Amino acid sequence: MKKTVKGVICAVMLLITVILSACSGMKPETASFEAMDTLMSLTVYGGEACSQLKSEINKLGSLFDATDEDSEIYRINRDKSAEISSDTDRLIGKALALCGRLDGYFDITVYPAVLEWGFTTGKYDIPDKAALKKLAEKIDYSRVEHSEGHVTVPDGTMLDLGAVAKGYAAERCLEILRDSKATAAVLNLGGTIALYGEKPDKTPFKVGIADPENPAGYFGYLSCGEGVISTSGGYERYFERDGKRYIHILDPKTAEPADNGILSVTVISDDGTAADALSTALFVMGLNKALDHYKNGFKSDGRDFIILTDSGELYVTEGIYDDFTLAEGYDYKVIKV
Ligand code: ADP
Ligand code: MG
Repeated sequence: MKKTVKGVICAVMLLITVILSACSGMKPETASFEAMDTLMSLTVYGGEACSQLKSEINKLGSLFDATDEDSEIYRINRDKSAEISSDTDRLIGKALALCGRLDGYFDITVYPAVLEWGFTTGKYDIPDKAALKKLAEKIDYSRVEHSEGHVTVPDGTMLDLGAVAKGYAAERCLEILRDSKATAAVLNLGGTIALYGEKPDKTPFKVGIADPENPAGYFGYLSCGEGVISTSGGYERYFERDGKRYIHILDPKTAEPADNGILSVTVISDDGTAADALSTALFVMGLNKALDHYKNGFKSDGRDFIILTDSGELYVTEGIYDDFTLAEGYDYKVIKV
């Protein structure tokens, strides 16, 4: 009898140990911190990777921040010719290829205009027509000379990787996770979300899409697997003058803030840099060009989007249409593309 009680106690102890270790295996590792001018939060299941991910993100933030005198982008803009490290090399290479495919709506030489409008300092100013014309003339990615490990730009040309830095960071984080013991991860890099692996309960990840009119809330949810989800919206950084809103996403052709009735663009792709570049570019293009662009290439690349317009219409591409759910209280008209 005594032996049996002891046996039962042992069995219970063993069970508790198994449950606890199973739970600790389920319990994710988390981290929250500020980087790339935004708040980031990492959740990793099944292995420890947060500190490596955080240091990678911080390293990339320091390389790409055009306002930081120690960054490689600042050095290129100041010296017009510079040696670059492998990450800057890879990102500039990818970004220039995307500029070429996105008809100039995405252009990494937009920086002179970003500076003039005051988006880096918060000292906002509306350039006059003549100044805008001069700024628009300075924007042209085809003037950037890039060869392995080296970049040269002419006088007047300045680089800005702000529209792809978080997407590239997401891409690098996914590479790190693939080399780690982690089984799943949800990384929120300030609006750019990277999803990795499979959740412990095997259900799909559910990602909320920010409501541009109330960015703390979500207008809908998307069920998805591994990949990167990038949202560009006028709500991230903007100022208002005489009742008009001026946002930080600029049309490279005019050097003026995009203002075409689009409130937000979310792009889903397995390529983080492409997702980030596309969300910015589609925002600038406007709805009709974005839809054309989807039909002529973007669709066959396996990329999907959700576009919200100021008339309350939500355009969702067919690849993700069934995975999208409108949140309670929203009556947007959902249109399948
Ligand atoms: P966020 O960084 O807020 O998520 P985006 O990815 O759309 O938003 O990037 C916007 C940033 O990219 C701007 O702050 C600016 O530095 C730069 N930018 C603005 N317009 C363009 C553009 N048309 N092409 C490339 N970069 C741009
Ligand atoms: Mg972007």
